[in-house]
Amino acid sequence: MPHPRDAAGSARHPAFACAILRAMPRTRPSAETLKQRLNVARIPEIIARLDDAYGLPEWRPHHDAISELVLTILSQNTSDANSGRAFVRLTEAFPAWDDVASAPLGALVAAIQPGGLAPTKAPRIQGALRDIKERTGGYDLQFLTGLPLEEARAWLRSIHGVGPKTAACVLMFALGRPAMPVDTHVFRVATRLALIPERAGRARMTPEKAHELLEAQVPPRDFYAFHIALIKHGRRVCTAQRPRCPECVLRDLCPAAAVFHPELAGADRGPARAAAMVGTSPRKTPSQAPRTGV
Ligand code: SF4
Repeated sequence: MPHPRDAAGSARHPAFACAILRAMPRTRPSAETLKQRLNVARIPEIIARLDDAYGLPEWRPHHDAISELVLTILSQNTSDANSGRAFVRLTEAFPAWDDVASAPLGALVAAIQPGGLAPTKAPRIQGALRDIKERTGGYDLQFLTGLPLEEARAWLRSIHGVGPKTAACVLMFALGRPAMPVDTHVFRVATRLALIPERAGRARMTPEKAHELLEAQVPPRDFYAFHIALIKHGRRVCTAQRPRCPECVLRDLCPAAAVFHPELAGADRGPARAAAMVGTSPRKTPSQAPRTGV
């Protein structure tokens, strides 16, 4: 599994980086200019096409919140299969969260070995569990559903070892709150689609910094379906090394398509360009009704 910065793909693709640099004005852009340069006007159309391609997933919690938190820490920089194996071994070796929190570090590292980076993840998991026990007296995080979203997010972020992605995973997957985790696939595809900028000020954009930006641009009712669709799209079509742009349902909306596949330059762009000019979807306007799921 590549490091997220390596997996960003587009950010490291020299041709794409040059194209973006050429497009950058020499003066600092206004927020409005930046918004126009990004692909935000096409988000409704992008969502509609991803819905058509991948369907609308039904939200249901796979784990309770504390399990989701531990599983997300285990999933850092590894595959779902590896982190799933590590989680099963962890819960078999230490059936109660108190057992995990008080386990000898070496035993915990051995248990989660299949998930990779075990010497880093084991103390992170123990730190989070001990912190939660100290603050709440247990490991039940259901009370977060009763807090305003940003308060719940801030509470999670204040736990030792919990970053924006882990907090968003707990909120979205376990608690059904409208938060959008940005993993390596979401980050790569959203960057190529120019839904987030390549840079955050003088620094390179990172998945951590992208959470707030993406959440600000996508309607909350679409977070869950959009997140799931971008992951599927990133695995099946918009892969890190060789994106399959000619087969991509978003190719006429994506600035990176012509960079990875120059033969696509100018093709299929009529409807999207027209839509961008009038600010409407060239194919259909998604329903405004709340979507099932989150
Ligand atoms: S057109 Fe290519 S780069 Fe753009 S989203 Fe599709 S596969 Fe990814």
